Amino acid sequence: MKELQEMWKQVLLKVEMMVSAVSFDLWIAPLEVLDYNKFEKLILSTNSTYAKKQLMKNHSEQLKSAIEEVFGEDTPFEILDPDEKKEFLKKNKPEINQAVVEKEIEEDKNAFNPKYTFDNFVVGKSNQFVYAAARSVAENPGKRFNPLFIYGGVGLGKTHVLHAIGNYIKKELPDLKIKYVTCEKFTNDYIDSLHGSNKDQGINKFREKYRNVDVLMVDDIQFITNKNETQEEFFHTFNDLYQNNKQIIIASDRPPKEIATLSDRLRSRFASGLIQDVQSPDFETRVAILRKKAQLERYIIDDEVINFIAEKIDTNIREMEGLLAKVYFFATLLGKKSASLEEAKEAFKEDLDEKREDLSPDTIIDATCKYFGISKADIVGKKKSKEIVEPRMIAIYLISEMLDMPLVAIGKLFGGRDHTTIIHARDKITEQYRDGGRVKTLVNAIKEQINAN
Ligand code: ADP
Ligand code: MG
Repeated sequence: MKELQEMWKQVLLKVEMMVSAVSFDLWIAPLEVLDYNKFEKLILSTNSTYAKKQLMKNHSEQLKSAIEEVFGEDTPFEILDPDEKKEFLKKNKPEINQAVVEKEIEEDKNAFNPKYTFDNFVVGKSNQFVYAAARSVAENPGKRFNPLFIYGGVGLGKTHVLHAIGNYIKKELPDLKIKYVTCEKFTNDYIDSLHGSNKDQGINKFREKYRNVDVLMVDDIQFITNKNETQEEFFHTFNDLYQNNKQIIIASDRPPKEIATLSDRLRSRFASGLIQDVQSPDFETRVAILRKKAQLERYIIDDEVINFIAEKIDTNIREMEGLLAKVYFFATLLGKKSASLEEAKEAFKEDLDEKREDLSPDTIIDATCKYFGISKADIVGKKKSKEIVEPRMIAIYLISEMLDMPLVAIGKLFGGRDHTTIIHARDKITEQYRDGGRVKTLVNAIKEQINAN
């Protein structure tokens, strides 16, 4: 990375001598290097579509000659506007890509993530029972464990297992109808069905969709609301399927008894089948998962880097995969096949900030208020003006980032906001942070304040 930035600086120096100072400040200086692969090309990004146009129209010759001087003759380059940059990062950073894939899959009811198969699932002590139960259900849906209720922490493979069942059945029992939804999707579908022009028709269609299946999978059931009608509908869906020996599979981040919003009768229905937890993998399993993932994604990663990641992250597998993708991406930026341990540590600098035990959410809220010069009452309150909303979202982001605090608890701190609001704020700032620029600067400045205390 450093090397590449150094090379880019040299390009800038050369271009600076070829163009006017104004043009340089306006168009050239804001260019960022996104990627450089020895065998491909130099990817640059600008901060607007207009800037891209100007550059292409007026400065492409100068850029070309400076780039060739530094990077070698015939080095192709491409300038991306902000939208193209997003696309590019999506394609090139698998950890982001994954979210997109999942969303697309959810929208297409017949598609399962082809990577989430039983073959690609590493079995260890932590997940062997879930694996066995899932396989049995996939081979004999509706026969043995019905419903199958899988629970465990974030990023431990629940969604992977559901998709593995889906992929298996699609291949081995292609006549069966399978439906996979998140709880949120189920809820929204139901609400939508009530709000069409013809309510009866809407609800009939909804029922047809959900009851006319052989296997129904509902992911993230912990998000079920205690709005009675949706639960009522789910309860009837459940009964209808169950009575017809159709398989039901549920995933959740906690056991039924800990889902406060779940009605008692659904809870007892869930208890009538198999409730199986998936635990955090031990070190050996984590290493095996990372190896598998690297092999699947065709990453070349040194063993010592894999061990380092497996040591640093011991609960969330998705987080481990994020680091794996990052280190690979980092090596590509360096123009290397794989990164050394030292380079990996450099790449992870921001991710592995130790979570501080002594930090409280109040410290973070106070630092954010102080930074923006607003009151605590306002930041946790109801005001919707931009001057308050942005600091609020940043504080939420920082708390979820720096502390191990459940979303619901964060919501409570902010005047009882719903966890979905908290997720929205966190994700929005995460995205803006990734894009760099103003929000990143703000966030880092506040973080520094907090860490200085
Ligand atoms: P959850 O739904 O429990 O939050 P996911 O199923 O989304 O977690 O898993 C997060 C990531 O970890 C996925 O990319 C998944 O493929 C991977 N993963 C989890 N467990 C395993 C495993 N045992 N073997 C291989 N990959 C796994
Ligand atoms: Mg999941």
